[in-house]
Amino acid sequence: MFTRRYAISLFLAILLPTTLFAQEKRQVIVCSTTQVADFARQVVGDRMEVKCILAAGQDPHLYEKKPGDAQLVSTADLCLENGWHLEGNDWMNKLATQTGRPIVTCVEGCQPLQVPGIEQAMHDPHVWFSCTNAAIYVRNIRDAVIKLDPEHADEYRSRAGLYLDQLRTLHSWIVREINNIPVEQRVLVTSHDAFNYFCHAYGMQSATPVGWSTGDEVGAGITPQRRQETIDSIRDHKVKAIFVETSVNPTMVREIAREAGVKIGGELYSDSMGGPDTAGETYIGMMRENVITIVQALK
Ligand SMILES: [Zn+2]
Repeated sequence: MFTRRYAISLFLAILLPTTLFAQEKRQVIVCSTTQVADFARQVVGDRMEVKCILAAGQDPHLYEKKPGDAQLVSTADLCLENGWHLEGNDWMNKLATQTGRPIVTCVEGCQPLQVPGIEQAMHDPHVWFSCTNAAIYVRNIRDAVIKLDPEHADEYRSRAGLYLDQLRTLHSWIVREINNIPVEQRVLVTSHDAFNYFCHAYGMQSATPVGWSTGDEVGAGITPQRRQETIDSIRDHKVKAIFVETSVNPTMVREIAREAGVKIGGELYSDSMGGPDTAGETYIGMMRENVITIVQALK
């Protein structure tokens, strides 16, 4: 009996500290978009819990807040948003303000491109599409996380350092890959105007029937004129293929392809990454798959 009780006490003594450690509450980061959540995970590892409001394939411009969102955000030690109105009507910023949680805007410090074709100055929010800008998001997140948990600063700096190296490699790889497309064929036609930073960074031109947002903001949505200009661009440049986006209804692009007599070159990740177990479930995977799809269709 004694031996058995001793064995049980010993077992509990060994088990208890591990169990307590495992149950120790981790700090929580709540992100608006899938890209921002991936950057955060690359920096914090398993040290913090990273949650994301948008699911794979969801459109941040059109997102309608769900009843559980405020509850989720209220548990956050830190909120992260993309910013520059990518989140339609600033839904993430409003959630953080309502629940009194701190929020960091990841585009802070990036060089903005203006939304083309409108009178008022407005920053295009699809900033992550240049790897150089993605690196600024990562540095902003690293600094915010270090402020939140200075005790593990070295760990966050280490992870961010490795990831920034990977982003530099990705950048050079994209430049090399795009070089396989003849210069006059470097026109990227998609649903909405999400690829300006990509085109600016990697030497392409973009043409889209829908403006910077799929919602109803200034300069957003589709106009018959934009639609016609897109078809004209396809014809003028003898574009070989155009692309649908994973987070936007493909109907219109398919119609335009038929009308202009071009094929669909594939599906690109734009405002949202791929789901779990897909090649596009990380930022690097999403960029890699997009570039492969674009180069294969246009070269
Ligand atoms: Zn967009």
